[in-house]
Amino acid sequence: MEIHKIVIPTPYEIGDVNAFLVKGDTLSLFDAGTKTKDAYEALKQGINDAGYNLNDIEQVVLTHHHPDHAGWVDAFPKANILGHEYIDHFLRKNKDFLEYRSEFYRFHLKRNAVPEKFIEKYLENREEMSYFGTIPLTQLLKDQDEVPGHPGLKAYYTPGHAESHLIFHDTKSNSVIGGDLLLEHVASNPLIEPPVNLTLERSKALLEYRNSLVLLKDLQVNKVYAGHGNEITNVSELITTRLERDRVRAEQVYDILDKPKSVIEVTQQLYSSIYRTQLGLTISKTIGYLDILESEGLVKCEVIEGLNIYSRS
Ligand SMILES: [Zn+2]
Ligand SMILES: [Zn+2]
Repeated sequence: MEIHKIVIPTPYEIGDVNAFLVKGDTLSLFDAGTKTKDAYEALKQGINDAGYNLNDIEQVVLTHHHPDHAGWVDAFPKANILGHEYIDHFLRKNKDFLEYRSEFYRFHLKRNAVPEKFIEKYLENREEMSYFGTIPLTQLLKDQDEVPGHPGLKAYYTPGHAESHLIFHDTKSNSVIGGDLLLEHVASNPLIEPPVNLTLERSKALLEYRNSLVLLKDLQVNKVYAGHGNEITNVSELITTRLERDRVRAEQVYDILDKPKSVIEVTQQLYSSIYRTQLGLTISKTIGYLDILESEGLVKCEVIEGLNIYSRS
């Protein structure tokens, strides 16, 4: 696989994001940075450095819908835009979808005993959609699809970090364009997001994420081109580390459940004060650890007076 890495700044704590230019029968860009001016300049420069112009890009393929990856689809109005169908909601930003999305978060935050003032603040921040691109997908990709113009490059659906997440496995080089499934220096966050079927029922993001990691491990690839940071070659070892780390955290959550507790109570104990500024992230992680324990029959969840209450079973 002829691949050229482009490092793009983001306004987020994670730092730079990577895009990958791949020359096959078609010239494709995998991921497109955040929609900021700095990112546009870096993307343009990176494409030039590889010997091309923005106009030469024939298709943009997205690993997932997060704004650090799906922003600058807007720089390629003539290109085909490909990705999982869920991404389209964030590019189109229909009023119905945005309302549903707020309702989804409000429902789950309430259920998990998050105080009203935090909920409203969280929803306001969620409304920040300007870093997302606005050009809808022209072609949907799903699990097992081959990327057009790239024989042997196959998509795998890998939800958990994002409901829309795909990785792309090149069978010839046995490498993967991995989005945010596996990163070298940080654990990917199992964010709770509205589910693909747009109901109020949440998916079990961390359990899905762990399955996706196992899928990647089973591919036994030589290299992962990660969405942030360096390429990864010790793939299997790093996946084992990530899986074990979450298992340890789940055990800490089990210890915290010395009596029945709501999710926010567990979150406060697990993360002390950072849950105030990192509400979505910390609560998603806590729920993830509880999901692990529940899937192993160690804890149970009951709805008591409208709140999810977890206890040891
Ligand atoms: Zn992401
Ligand atoms: Zn990312």
